[in-house]
Amino acid sequence: MAYGKDIYSNILEEYDEKRELAERKAEAFDAALCARSPEYAAITKRLSGIGVRLLLAGRAPDKEAKIAEIRRETEELRARRIEVLAELGYKEEDADVHYECAECSDTGYTDNGICACLKRKIAERQLENSGLGTLCKRCSFDNFSLKYYGDTQDNLAHMEKVLAAAKKYAQDFDPMESRSLLFIGGTGLGKTHLCAAIAREVAFAGYTVLYTGAQAMFNDFSNERFRNGYAPMELTEKYFESDLLIIDDLGAEAINQFSVSCLYDLINTRMVKGKPVIINTNFDANSLREKYADRITSRLFGEYSVFPFKGRDIRAQKLMEI
Ligand SMILES: [Zn+2]
Repeated sequence: MAYGKDIYSNILEEYDEKRELAERKAEAFDAALCARSPEYAAITKRLSGIGVRLLLAGRAPDKEAKIAEIRRETEELRARRIEVLAELGYKEEDADVHYECAECSDTGYTDNGICACLKRKIAERQLENSGLGTLCKRCSFDNFSLKYYGDTQDNLAHMEKVLAAAKKYAQDFDPMESRSLLFIGGTGLGKTHLCAAIAREVAFAGYTVLYTGAQAMFNDFSNERFRNGYAPMELTEKYFESDLLIIDDLGAEAINQFSVSCLYDLINTRMVKGKPVIINTNFDANSLREKYADRITSRLFGEYSVFPFKGRDIRAQKLMEI
């Protein structure tokens, strides 16, 4: 997918750059030491020729003896190198190449496949590009507090189930298997918080996540369609291709025939491809039915798992705490 591949190839370029930089720094350090100490220079030169000597020794009739001799000499050279470095005021590791990641030497790969550092970097970049901004840093499952839902025992018990279901959804996320979700309920009930927490987990599992406000998304569709200069799918491909699409605040946008048709196309195309969507709305089922065509609401309420959010506006409750 173009959206994910761009991120991946940009990161690999950055890895190439930081690896080369680390290697150049180590070479410069080595060159400075060689200039200071002729003995260090001689040891370095001798050690750098070991590989070729071993190769040639492997072809000699008395190869075992020759290889053993080279190995012994190598050990002596290495030991003496440590002593010379100490005389110059350095530890052995000071002359090493200092990669950011010791596991993969900044290549992004180990013998076991993709390195954890590269996985983490891709996830971070996905989140930066996801549209969530700082929300994903602030909102996690761990800091989703249920204390604001304690106005009734029923609400609390209900929201405990919603939180558990959201956690499970994020943990088990599969871009071809996971269902689409509809988070429904008044403002300030934690819908965006849970979406951000899901986005975070899904991105760290290596999937592409796109988080968008409904209005911003329809602006992209409109700009692509009605303004010159945009190629087909240039602005909107990401809405169709991301592994998980999260649409925030559906219903708050300016609704017209064009936006309804775009929404239907998007929901339908993703459904056919089996790609999940999470939709957040402050409107109840009846209001959504009034705003959108039946063909949309029948899909939302027929195919999506609907999670009503219950309670009192958390932002208002937090204000009362100050
Ligand atoms: Zn690594």
